[in-house]
Amino acid sequence: MKNAQIRLYIFSLVVTLFFSICFTSADFLTIPVIAVKDYLIIGAQWMVVTIALYFVSLLLAADKYIFAITFPALAFISALLAWFRLTMNATLTPMILDAALENDFRTSGDMVSPGLLFFVAGTLSLSLALVYYRYRHITIRRSFYPACIGIVFLFAITRINSFKRPISERIPFTLYYTFMKYREEKQVISEKRIDLTEGIHCGDEDVTVVFVLGESLRPDHLGLNGYERNTTPLLSEEDIISFPYIYTEQTYTNRSLPHLLTRADSADFSRAYTEKSFVSMFKACDFYTVWLANQEAADTYVYFMNECDSLFHINIEKSSYVFDKWVDGDLFPLFDNALKVNRNKKLILLHTIGSHWWYNSHFTDEFACFQPLVKSKVISSCTKEEMINSYDNTVLYTDYFLHGLIDRLKDKNAILIYQSDHGEALGEEGVWLHAAETPYTHRAACMVWMSPVYKENHFKFYERAKDNSQKRFRTDYLFHSILDAAGIGSEYLDESLSIFR
Ligand SMILES: [Zn+2]
Repeated sequence: MKNAQIRLYIFSLVVTLFFSICFTSADFLTIPVIAVKDYLIIGAQWMVVTIALYFVSLLLAADKYIFAITFPALAFISALLAWFRLTMNATLTPMILDAALENDFRTSGDMVSPGLLFFVAGTLSLSLALVYYRYRHITIRRSFYPACIGIVFLFAITRINSFKRPISERIPFTLYYTFMKYREEKQVISEKRIDLTEGIHCGDEDVTVVFVLGESLRPDHLGLNGYERNTTPLLSEEDIISFPYIYTEQTYTNRSLPHLLTRADSADFSRAYTEKSFVSMFKACDFYTVWLANQEAADTYVYFMNECDSLFHINIEKSSYVFDKWVDGDLFPLFDNALKVNRNKKLILLHTIGSHWWYNSHFTDEFACFQPLVKSKVISSCTKEEMINSYDNTVLYTDYFLHGLIDRLKDKNAILIYQSDHGEALGEEGVWLHAAETPYTHRAACMVWMSPVYKENHFKFYERAKDNSQKRFRTDYLFHSILDAAGIGSEYLDESLSIFR
C-alpha cells in the first residue's frame, strides 16, 4: 500500500512534467527577455505554475476513474490551446469563449493543419498511455491523502496574490479562470441599473460624436503640448484643442472607465456601479451607439459596452501575456463600417490599446522612430532611454491613429473627444507604468477636435473649449461635456462641468 502511494506521488510528478513541458511552456516561449536575470524570473514563474499543476495532477490521479476521464480531456484541450499559442500567438479570452458559446466563432479550414493533427494525436496517445499506467501499475483505486494535499495546496497557492495572476493566465489554468471571468461578465451585464433618461431633451441636429478612450497617454509626451520630441506631427497640423491639465482620480483602466462613462465623480464613485452610462442617454435621443473594442472587457465596464446598440471586438485573442503586434489601426475597418450605418445621429466609442505596456506591441515597425527600443519584458532589464523611446513610439502611433479617424470625419458634422484613462509613470522616482500613486499616473491626455461643419454650428463651444483648455479639470467633466456636445439636455447634466461652456 505504502509503495503504491509513493508511486502515485512520483506518477503525478511525471504527469505534471509531461503537461508543463508540452503545453504550459507554450505560454513562456515568446516572452521577450535579454539578461540572465530575466530568464531566472521567467523560469521562476514557470516553476510556480508547474508546482500548482502538480497539485492538480495529484488531485486527478488520486482516483483512477477520475484520472481516466479527466486527464485525456484536459490534455486534448490544452494541446489545442498550446498549438494556437505557438503558431498564432492566440490565447483563450472571455471574448473567444463568448464567440464560441454563442456560435459566432468562425473557424477556417487552414486552422486545421497536419501539424495540429499530429500534435493532438501525439497528446492523446501519451495521455492514454499514462491512463494505462495508472490502471496497471498503481494498484490503489483511490487514495485519500494525495487528493487532500492536492486540493489544500492548490487552494493555498492560488490565494497568494503574486502567484495568482501568472497561474491564472497560463495553460491549463486559463481554462478555469477564463470561464469564471466570462460568467462574471454575463452576470454584470444582466444587472439592473438606474436609468437617467427621464425628462431628457434631445437636440434635432444630425451629428456624429466620436469618443476615443485612450490608454496610458500622458499629456506631457505630446508634441502638441510642447514635448521636446515631435510625437504628434500629424495632429499638430490639425485644429486640435488639447487639455493638458486633466486629473484622473483612478490610475488603472478597470477603475477609470466606469468613472469616465457614468455620472460617477470624485465625491460619489458608487454611481459607477449603480447607474447606466451616458450611452443610454444617447440611445434615448435616437443615436445609433456602437462600441469598438481593441481591449478585452472587464467586469467593471462590460455593462457599458453592452449598453450600446452594437459591440465589435478586434484582436480578441490577445492578452497581456502576448507580445506580438496589437495595434489600434486594426480598428479602422470597424470605424468605417460604423460611419456607413444608415442613421442620422451616431455615438461611436473606440476603446484603444494606445500606450499600454508592452509598448513595442502597440506600434508598427514604421513608427519605431525613437531608438533603441526595449528588449526585455522585465522592466529592470530595460534602460530608461529604451523605455521612453518605446513609449514615445506608441504616442507617434496614436498620432497617426487619431489623425486617421479625423480624416474620415472631415466632411461630416462631427466632434471627436479623446480622453486617456490615466497617465503613465516613466521612471520618475523609480516608478514605471500605472496603477501606482504618482503625479504622472493621475494626469491623462485629453484632446478635442471639431469638423468644419460642427465648428460652424457650434462656434461658441469651440471658443469656450479653447478658453477652457488651459484650466484644470477632473475627468468628471466627460459625462457632462459629451452630452452637451451632442445637444442632449438633462437634469443630470451639470453645465458647470462642461468644457464647452
Ligand atoms: Zn488603462
